[in-house]
Amino acid sequence: MIEKTDIGDLKGIGEKTKKLFEKINIHTVGDLIRYYPHGYDVYEEAVPVSELEEDKIQTVTGAIYGRVQVSGSSRMQVTTLYVKDITGTLKVIWFRMPFLRNTLSGGGVITLRGRVVRKKTGDLVMEHPEIFYPSAKYEEKLHTLQPVYGLTSGLSNNMVMKAMKQALDGLDLTREILPDSLRLNYGLAEYNYAVRGIHFPEDKEVFYHARERLVFEEFLEFILSIRRLKEKNERLENNYPMQPRPEVETFLKSLPFELTGAQTKVWKEIEKDLGSDKTMSRLVQGDVGSGKTIVAVLALMNAAFNGCQGAMMAPTEVLARQHYENITKMFEDYDIPIKVELLTGSMTAKEKRRAYDRIECGLAKIIIGTHALIQGAVSYDNLGLVITDEQHRFGVKQRETFALKGGEPHVLVMSATPIPRTLAIILYGDLDISVIDELPANRLPIKNCVVDTGYRNTAYNFMKKQIAEGRQCYVICPMVEESETMEAENVTDYTVALQEEMGEQIRVACLHGKMKQAQKDDIMDRFGRNEIQILVSTTVIEVGIDVPNATVMMIENAERFGLAQLHQLRGRVGRGKHQSYCIFMSASKSKETKKRLDILNHSNDGFKIASEDLRLRGPGDLFGIRQSGLMNFKLGDVYQDAKILQMANEAADQLTEEDEEWIRKLPNYENAAEVVL
Ligand code: ADP
Ligand code: MG
Repeated sequence: MIEKTDIGDLKGIGEKTKKLFEKINIHTVGDLIRYYPHGYDVYEEAVPVSELEEDKIQTVTGAIYGRVQVSGSSRMQVTTLYVKDITGTLKVIWFRMPFLRNTLSGGGVITLRGRVVRKKTGDLVMEHPEIFYPSAKYEEKLHTLQPVYGLTSGLSNNMVMKAMKQALDGLDLTREILPDSLRLNYGLAEYNYAVRGIHFPEDKEVFYHARERLVFEEFLEFILSIRRLKEKNERLENNYPMQPRPEVETFLKSLPFELTGAQTKVWKEIEKDLGSDKTMSRLVQGDVGSGKTIVAVLALMNAAFNGCQGAMMAPTEVLARQHYENITKMFEDYDIPIKVELLTGSMTAKEKRRAYDRIECGLAKIIIGTHALIQGAVSYDNLGLVITDEQHRFGVKQRETFALKGGEPHVLVMSATPIPRTLAIILYGDLDISVIDELPANRLPIKNCVVDTGYRNTAYNFMKKQIAEGRQCYVICPMVEESETMEAENVTDYTVALQEEMGEQIRVACLHGKMKQAQKDDIMDRFGRNEIQILVSTTVIEVGIDVPNATVMMIENAERFGLAQLHQLRGRVGRGKHQSYCIFMSASKSKETKKRLDILNHSNDGFKIASEDLRLRGPGDLFGIRQSGLMNFKLGDVYQDAKILQMANEAADQLTEEDEEWIRKLPNYENAAEVVL
């Protein structure tokens, strides 16, 4: 069997199963073995009932106590069982498994492994556990690591495991890609050992060793692809030399605020790049609220007044529209004669065609949009500058595609990803880096608090008071609608309940990703005009939205979010001159959760939060932890694996040209540029 073997050629994979694998982008055996587990189940020793901790997956062994009960509606049957050991009794529930009443009717000793949660009544309950009955069945699993794969409806973890075993057993040894000297130098595992070890590690040691090797390789491929871009950029002559323009200076002077020192410094760097003899490739890094947009607007204006087009791409329609509207309004207010165009996927075919025409003939000078900006249908007239906002939501490849829309235009990317400079230099190796490391002076630091759900009414009263003073609020919930298997707040029900609580004078609306675009735009518009005072939303609100009048951010089930994400969410407030507040509400009493949230409580600094988060998680402990989730490498995590990243960077310097050629031919190499930074 070779990597290119069709997945359907594996035993036990028929047409139907093949389709399921294709749904998760697995077409060949090679795709399959590169489909790494996103976690592992560790089958640990059972814990006495009295020592169970909430929000953790644990195992208990005990006697079935009393009868198995089935209750609830036919849509949502809940099976309840009590198990007892000498330290106490535990309630256990399963959803939609009424047949368990028969399976478990024999009584006796049972072992259960599942998540323990604290219910509103205060009791600990184990939810939907895996069953080992009779108990002895657990012995076989004890201390083993089982891979957990990303699945799709109809495809079970067992099916993936089975296919994977077959693929790995039947696969010819693959040629090692790393030169031996390099492997020995860094103590890296051999490739064939590593792919087996990542899927079916015998123990944690094997797993660490296997993972380290694969992460190294992933980073190395990425670094090489970035370096190639850099080489290319360095050769690019400036096709669009742009001179400083007096109109931009005048505009700057007329703004209601003065640029911060950091903004001015960065703007000067950009202005200089635009006029130099090489094309610009620059990253502007700045924490949320540091004022990156205005710097981008200055660059776009500069392009337009130099007779070129400038385009800016944002990751969501809501954000693109917001940029478009802000810029249009600013230009109206200050009599700037530049035609600004909007281009997004949700526009009607007719609207799009008109926009294309105006872009193609050069009437539109500044174009703001979403991914629609890089699609085939649009062609530009004289595109001299491309900007990506929130680059951490785009892949390197999309950034490249954007640039290819013009004849080697200037490239500016903006990101709020809080990474230390040493890592930024590696990850954004093809770009020059500017940092906006100062917040506008009129800002008051956000006041934070971490509270439990008992504080909710106080929080509501506080929101009423803020609204009475003319301010607005956000409430974030983790889910769109009620879920059967998870207990967490959802925006749909929450909005109804909160409207009731707030009374008719206050308008509450909801926003989430499943809504139609037009609906989302309408809600955002009305929130922007303060016709809506409270916006209940999922994390769609996370990127970029700017409503400076909003002063309260309340996050329900804060324990369910990563710290970096919470920091981004918090960045939606504290953007104007009013004092702002962030309320992290958490139902969890676990110490670990409290410690994590406390980091946010004590710091408003994205860099600091990211490094504290890492310190708290501790290097090396990769089991059951959230990855920082900031950059979507397949395996690697830039914070967690910062050392490996640095190693790979060093190694890239030592590779011979021949090695590099060889690595660039590998199937993974192509994907390296898809990584979202
Ligand atoms: P981000 O860096 O997160 O993209 P924005 O560019 O959206 O931040 O800016 C946040 C808010 O700060 C906006 O309302 C913007 O008008 C305002 N702002 C930007 N620069 C300044 C400044 N120098 N002084 C005061 N307010 C500013
Ligand atoms: Mg922004």
